[in-house]
Amino acid sequence: MNSYIDSHAHLSMLGPRGIDADARLENLFASGFGAILDVGTKSGDLAERIRAFGRFPAVRFSAGIWPSAEAISDREREIAALEASMAAAEPNRLVAVGECGFDRHWNKAEDGADIKGERELFDAQARLALARDLPIIIHSREAVEETESAIAAVPGLRGVVHCFSYGKEEARRFLDLGFFVSFSGTVTYKNAESQREAARFVPLDRLLLETDCPYLAPLPLRGKSAEPGMVELTYALIAEIRGIPVEELVRAAADNAHELFGLPTRS
Ligand SMILES: [Zn+2]
Repeated sequence: MNSYIDSHAHLSMLGPRGIDADARLENLFASGFGAILDVGTKSGDLAERIRAFGRFPAVRFSAGIWPSAEAISDREREIAALEASMAAAEPNRLVAVGECGFDRHWNKAEDGADIKGERELFDAQARLALARDLPIIIHSREAVEETESAIAAVPGLRGVVHCFSYGKEEARRFLDLGFFVSFSGTVTYKNAESQREAARFVPLDRLLLETDCPYLAPLPLRGKSAEPGMVELTYALIAEIRGIPVEELVRAAADNAHELFGLPTRS
């Protein structure tokens, strides 16, 4: 197997969906899989995730707060809890802040969502990333303008727009801000032509691939719970549409994940 990198996974969500994550990871790493970044969504989930998956040397962790209505409304306490959990973690395993960001699918102003609070929750995490010299993992759904202006408001912020759901022009804007762009299994979906256009456009040295498992299994497995091994299908699709060998894409993504997150690379 190629030494694929899954740069965005939620490993602790696999068990509840009937996937034996431990056995799966052992299998993947034994057969040459590269590395996995396990991504946090709640202020209190880091210690438990490190306890569950820290025994795998090629798994690294991020810590962050997804913009749920509850987290937004309780943001001061949430940020304090996040900071405390990060301070308690081994620094060489904790490699990023996030995921955090903007979700205009779930948080709509017309439904009474606290848009200003969502921005504050993001800004606090962006400051945290900057202060600790860590990259940030940004969730951005139907919220290009806000994401772009929030990044631009924090000079020096580096990171990735994960599970990229936009097109080529939007990709250009995030690249101009120095960000990486990460594609998930959605790029394989039939209606995702603009994502594929973006995946052809993003330079090879700014591209990452991910599963966002257990969500968003790539074709032909769409509808199943995803697991990190399925990232292979996304690599195959993007290599094909870029007209390059999969090995070249794997090497580039591994270099990028190493550069941005310090993920281990296999030689
Ligand atoms: Zn995610």
